[in-house]
Amino acid sequence: MPSPYIGRFAPTPSGYLHFGSLLAAVASYLDARHHQGQWLVRVEDLDTPRNVPGATDHILHTLDAYGLHWDGEVVRQSDRLALYQQVIDDWLENGQAYHCDCSRQTILNHGGVYPGICRERGLPAAADHAVRLRVSDQTMVFQDRLQGAFRQQPATTSGDFIIRRRDGIIAYQLAVVIDDIAQQVTDIVRGADLLDSTPRQLCLYQLLQQPAPRYLHVPLVMRHDGEKLSKRLGSTPLEPRQATATLYRALSVLAQNPPSQLSTAPISEQLDWAVAHWQPDRLPAKRHILDPTI
Ligand code: GLU
Repeated sequence: MPSPYIGRFAPTPSGYLHFGSLLAAVASYLDARHHQGQWLVRVEDLDTPRNVPGATDHILHTLDAYGLHWDGEVVRQSDRLALYQQVIDDWLENGQAYHCDCSRQTILNHGGVYPGICRERGLPAAADHAVRLRVSDQTMVFQDRLQGAFRQQPATTSGDFIIRRRDGIIAYQLAVVIDDIAQQVTDIVRGADLLDSTPRQLCLYQLLQQPAPRYLHVPLVMRHDGEKLSKRLGSTPLEPRQATATLYRALSVLAQNPPSQLSTAPISEQLDWAVAHWQPDRLPAKRHILDPTI
C-alpha cells in the first residue's frame, strides 16, 4: 500500500506573505487536498539575521484568511536546532563532513564551486568554521511531476556544500531534508527556484538512508520587467481583506481556468472548486512565467 500523502508549505519569515509565495502555498495545498492528503506548515526561521519581526504571524494569519488551513501544529525550525546539530556531529565524527575556513572570496575565485580545499586538512572545530558535506561524484536524477527529468552532479555544480555556516546557522539544505523526513512528507510542491537545490537534497536523503519524496516545482511568477516576485525584493504583502479577488487571481495564474462566476464567490467555495479540479499539468513546464498584470 502506498504511504498516505503528506504535503507541506515551508515559508521563510524573511518577509511577509506576497503573491509569489501565495502561489506556492496554494499549489501545495491544492495538490495535498486533491489527494486527500495532509497539509503541514513549517516555518523555516533558521536564518535569524534575515527574519523580519512579525513576518511569521503575518504569514500564518494570511494563510488562515485565505482558507489555507493546515493540519496539526506549526513546526518552527528554531525549536529543532539540537536535532540538526546531532546529524552534523555524527557526520563530523565519521568523516562525512568536515570543517572549513575558506572565505567567500576564495570560493568565488573558483567560480562558486567548492574545490575541496579543506577536505583533507582535518581542521578542528572552531566558532568561525563552516561545516561542509563531502559529496560523491554521483549524478542525481529525479523525475519532477511538472518539469520532467532533471539531472545534476552536485560535485560539479556546488562541490562539497555547507551544512552549517561560519556564523553557526544551520544551512537550509540540511534542515529542510531532516524535517521533511521527520514529518514523513511524501510530496513537495514548491517554487522552481528550488529545482537546483533538489539534487543536493537528494544526496542528503541518500546519506540518511531515506526514500526521497515526489517533487513538483511550480514556475515562479515574474513581473513584466522580468523581476521575480520575491519577498526579498519587497513585493507587496498580501491583504487578508482582498482574499476573494487575490485567490481567484492565484488560481488563474496557476492556469486552473476557474469559471468567471467564481471570482466573487467566498474563498471556501473557490478552494472547493480548485481542489476538485486541480490539474498541475496545465502549468507550463518552465521555471518562470510572466504575468503582465503585475
Ligand atoms: N523555506 C523555503 C523558502 O521560503 C522553501 C523551502 C522548501 O519548500 O523546500 O524559499
